[in-house]
Amino acid sequence: MKSIRLKEGKERSLLRRHPWVFESAVAKGGADAGETVRVEGHDGRFLCWAAFSPASRIRVRAWSFDEAQRIDAAFFDATVRRAIAARTHFAIASDGLRLVHGEADGLPGLVVDRYAGVLSAQFSSAGSERWKPVIADALLAATGATRLFERSDAQVRELEGLPAQTGWLRGDPGTDGHAGDTADTTVQITEHGWQLSLDVAQGHKTGFYLDQRDNRAAFARWVRQLGLQHVLNCYCYTGGFTVAALAGGAARVTSVDSSGPALQRVQAHVQLNGFDPAASTCHDADVNAFLRSGLQEGRRFDAIVLDPPKFAPTAAHAERAARAYKDINRLAFKLLVPGGLLFTFSCSGGISADLFHKIVAGAAADAPADGAILQRLEGACDHPTTMEFPEGEYLKGLAILKQA
Ligand code: SAH
Repeated sequence: MKSIRLKEGKERSLLRRHPWVFESAVAKGGADAGETVRVEGHDGRFLCWAAFSPASRIRVRAWSFDEAQRIDAAFFDATVRRAIAARTHFAIASDGLRLVHGEADGLPGLVVDRYAGVLSAQFSSAGSERWKPVIADALLAATGATRLFERSDAQVRELEGLPAQTGWLRGDPGTDGHAGDTADTTVQITEHGWQLSLDVAQGHKTGFYLDQRDNRAAFARWVRQLGLQHVLNCYCYTGGFTVAALAGGAARVTSVDSSGPALQRVQAHVQLNGFDPAASTCHDADVNAFLRSGLQEGRRFDAIVLDPPKFAPTAAHAERAARAYKDINRLAFKLLVPGGLLFTFSCSGGISADLFHKIVAGAAADAPADGAILQRLEGACDHPTTMEFPEGEYLKGLAILKQA
């Protein structure tokens, strides 16, 4: 077994069970990509078993802090089962859910989502990549699913020196006697009783934004409770919040996204759920430009959803991102009627909930508008954050009522 010796004073974060060791903390030692190593303090004492990643600044990712633990197929089997069992504590109103959420589930660099009978996984570290076949078998055994699609095409793989990889990892319909066309990668899930379809090969991330599940339900409730009629859904993707708005009783929903293929599914979702297609209008546009022209044309909305992509992947991008968030939120406050609802989000790891709150408050002041916070919003419960790994927290949002 190869070992990695840390520099003196660099043991602290592992002792607090933070799962990462940066390149600069390593005194000596090395291994192949993804190989299991014994990580030791400067004095040689055991700290953790970990995966080594020679290309990444995050040189080591911990698998276990228990010296007696062997990192083998049984370990992955047990860890995957524990992650899946943890989801049963929550009453998740969907057959689309996250089964493994990386570091928070003790499996750094692994994300696994279940979409009805299909699993979709992303392997984004040298360690998870090395154990891929073992992890794939463990996932099928623990879930009873037979089909597992790989979506290892996130940019972070580059930092690990890994090429992008996508395709069926298990249960390829093309080799199981069916035609291997795109129809095979389309899955339908039922979320809060709504029918939502997605494509594990073409969709964003592993196919869908499961992290917004609870917030879509919350939005439907607020729309109903406040009797909101005309909703603007910005960065709508395939229309999750559009369906939520209609389910909440909205009379009209305007959906905006700059991705044509995503937008094409919005209307299908409206019809699939039995709503009047005439109640839904879609715009293939840049949201910022759409909001500005809406303002010039004197449009007004009773509710606005702002769910933009990650403007700040890390804290280094925070300042520029803050301006971008402030801009769209200021425009949204102006476009809302008094008594209207703003549902605004940031999924940037580089922007804390506190900072996001300040940015939105600044946007309200500039609009100008007064707002009362109805609800603080966060990622769904199957995207947990652990005490040891606060970096895992990324999605935050606010439901704000614009005062009359
Ligand atoms: N609210 C969605 C998820 C939104 S993800 C849901 O619940 O499913 C962010 C979306 O923003 C993506 O669909 C992406 O295509 C879109 N997007 C990114 N930049 C954009 C821009 N400048 N204008 C409009 N849409 C944009």
